Amino acid sequence: SPETPNDLQLYANDKVSAQMVELFEACRQQLSDLYRKETFRAQLQKDIQSLYPDARLYLTGSTMSGLGCRSSDADLCLVLRLRKTYDKAINVLSALLKLLRTLAYVDRVLLIRATVPILRFKEKGSNLEFDLNVNNTVGIRNTFLLKSYTHADIRIRPLMLVIKKWARHCEINDASKGTLSSYTLALMALNYLQIVRPPVLPSLQRDHPSCFHPSLDLDMIPNGSQSVPSYKSKNKSSLGDLFLGFLKYYASTFRWDSEIISVREATTLPKNAFPSWKSKFISVEEPFEKHNVARAVYEKDKFDTIKEKFAESYKILNEKKDLNSLLPLGTII
Ligand code: ATP
Ligand code: MG
Repeated sequence: SPETPNDLQLYANDKVSAQMVELFEACRQQLSDLYRKETFRAQLQKDIQSLYPDARLYLTGSTMSGLGCRSSDADLCLVLRLRKTYDKAINVLSALLKLLRTLAYVDRVLLIRATVPILRFKEKGSNLEFDLNVNNTVGIRNTFLLKSYTHADIRIRPLMLVIKKWARHCEINDASKGTLSSYTLALMALNYLQIVRPPVLPSLQRDHPSCFHPSLDLDMIPNGSQSVPSYKSKNKSSLGDLFLGFLKYYASTFRWDSEIISVREATTLPKNAFPSWKSKFISVEEPFEKHNVARAVYEKDKFDTIKEKFAESYKILNEKKDLNSLLPLGTII
């Protein structure tokens, strides 16, 4: 990436910010991690083509968005010419399950029947985990939207990595347990950065509509995101101030009961104007398909825990001005 550690130092002149840079440098995905995932993807695509000759396999998620950690899984989207229905995806995944179990470099293959059904498996002999979906191509589009946001300002990647580590430590970063997915957290953080005055980020979809057109050809998407220029923000807040501001915003400013988080619009939308959103505890609009990405949070006590963690963490960090008071830094990878 084009940034140098020196550029980041401009935003890291206080203790918390310096701790954030340190955590980012220790945990961020390395080029060697990316190469390993890409090599696996290429081999698997070849093997899947023996079953489906037109199959294309895309890496998505944090592996590609710039938000990856060394410990992140690799998300894969298999693109096939099929009608996009649940039954078809399940049929394909069942056939793939059998194929993958014959491959020497693949281990522990499971079919998970979630809203978006996936195959989950590992690379043989390592801890590298994969989640593969069929034709959920919105993941390719939104991954490159996130990537463009991480390129828009040098502070985004370290800030988002710390937010993810903080949320994981608080046990509020697991959609399968009724809390926030990493993707939901990323959209919440981006929306805060769009709303803070002066803004750290614009709406890239509004400013560069042709780069993020919802029907842009899949193979054009990565190139599209590279042509988005970086944003010159007037906001010069340090990393630590942005993290504290993020916690404070969701602890006390944001109205969970009446606002929808919209990264697409760079603002929040009123829930009462959109009846289908009214009953949701947390409303986070998917930037392309406009469904609620936070639908996993449907239990009142999980919702309360999430709000409590924001409030409690804001209070602690504001008082102690030390990231160690929130996260045991020495043990986090
Ligand atoms: P981690 O490093 O924790 O794996 P991640 O950035 O890969 O984080 P995930 O929540 O695992 O985030 O999601 C992976 C990708 O799947 C996202 O980048 C996004 O492209 C897609 N995705 C996840 N949830 C949704 C959703 N509700 N709607 C649309 N796309 C989604
Ligand atoms: Mg992932």
